[in-house]
Parts: sequence; structure tokens; C-alpha cells
Amino acid sequence: MSKLKKKSELEPGAIPFKSSKEYETGDWGITYPKIDYNKCTKCTLCHFFCPEGAINVREDGYTEVDYRYCKGCGICSHECPVKCIEMIVKK
Ligand code: SF4
Ligand code: SF4
Repeated sequence: MSKLKKKSELEPGAIPFKSSKEYETGDWGITYPKIDYNKCTKCTLCHFFCPEGAINVREDGYTEVDYRYCKGCGICSHECPVKCIEMIVKK
């Protein structure tokens, strides 16, 4: 069995949830999420599902995407229970 690597030995992009704050992945994707605040219920599930930690919860309870870290994977859009996150194709 191979020895597990320490965090300091991993390549950029290989480190899971939240540690990716060190790496701006915002220019990776071809799509980006847009939240419809008229439909958002403030459930915050998108915040917890985002693998990049790119969705923050504001003081008013709504979530907000930090596009510097969003890689456009669409997981937030898929998991949103009221389907109020639309993935927009970058131009
Ligand atoms: S598309 Fe959504 S889940 Fe994926 S990185 Fe961007 S904010 Fe996170
Ligand atoms: S998952 Fe959807 S409804 Fe829930 S906070 Fe995020 S955008 Fe709003």
C-alpha cells in the first residue's frame, strides 16, 4: 500500500475542500453560476456542496459566489433544491 502524501506534498488542485483558497481556479471553467435571488430560499446547500469553497454565506443569509475560485463545475446548480442557480456559458 502506498504511503499517503502530506498536504504539503500535494500538487496544486489536488487538495480538497477549502484548501483551494490558495489557488484561484476562476479562469478554469467555461460556465459560471448565476443565483436568482428572487427564488433562493437561503438553504445554504450550495455553500456546502461547492468543492472549491467558492460560495460564501452573506450576513443577510443569502449565498454569494466568489468567482475568483469558481471553476464552473455546476455542482451548486445541480444540488440547489429550488433550481435557482443557472449555469451561464462564458463568452
Ligand atoms: S460551479 Fe458552483 S459548485 Fe462549482 S466551483 Fe463554481 S460555485 Fe462551486
Ligand atoms: S442552494 Fe439554491 S436555494 Fe439554497 S442557498 Fe443556494 S442558491 Fe439559495
